[in-house]
Amino acid sequence: MALDIFQFPCLEDNYGVLVHDPVSGRTASIDAPEAAAVLAALKERGWKLTDIFTTHHHVDHVQGNLEVKAATGCTITGPAGEADKIPGIDRTVREGDTIDFAGHPVNIIETPGHTLGHIAYHFPKDEVAFVGDTLFALGCGRVFEGTLEQMWRSVEKIGALPAETKLYVGHEYTQSNWRFATAVDPTNPALAARGEMIASLRADGKPTVPTNVAIERATNPYLRAATAELRSSMGLPNGTPAEVFAAIRTAKDNFKG
Ligand SMILES: [Zn+2]
Repeated sequence: MALDIFQFPCLEDNYGVLVHDPVSGRTASIDAPEAAAVLAALKERGWKLTDIFTTHHHVDHVQGNLEVKAATGCTITGPAGEADKIPGIDRTVREGDTIDFAGHPVNIIETPGHTLGHIAYHFPKDEVAFVGDTLFALGCGRVFEGTLEQMWRSVEKIGALPAETKLYVGHEYTQSNWRFATAVDPTNPALAARGEMIASLRADGKPTVPTNVAIERATNPYLRAATAELRSSMGLPNGTPAEVFAAIRTAKDNFKG
């Protein structure tokens, strides 16, 4: 049976997400950005939390862990690579692990770069992935701990998931990402069309995510690092995808949109 997925805004621009299996009642929170918001979302849906699936150690993804765990008795799963930085962690996972969520397999994908231990949770049968701060709609996370080359490989892994895979991301950054994407990929008609949709959603106060792999492959400049358009606009006509990716990510860090 299909999972119920409930996304809610919290903090300044984070998203919380609850994943619920209606047969067993098992319910996971993807990260715990803000305890009060997670607990309120559970109450609103009438769901009992069994798990927190942590993507990475940043405070705006784990600061609710202990309070939510104390209130619900949930089990916290998180990346082995940064387990020492994740409050209340009970179980560590790493690349290649498949864990069970009420009969739904969950593949662990290591995506280092934003942080060194960052992971994504891919539910292949449900065609959905929770990618934290690795990929955003039209963007990718800042490279705080890893190298640009590592981040490219991580972004590429997400882009290589099946096209129809729905992507839930950690933040609502889409509108400002669109301004940058348009600056580096100005002739992409799919990007122009997406800009109109984004503006209209935000004008109505609605989220622009989840997105999916196909949409990101067509419009996300980081996933288009191998194209002639991006090589040319970054001034690297013979650049490798990793080099073009690094140039795009560096330009974004300095972009005043
Ligand atoms: Zn982060």
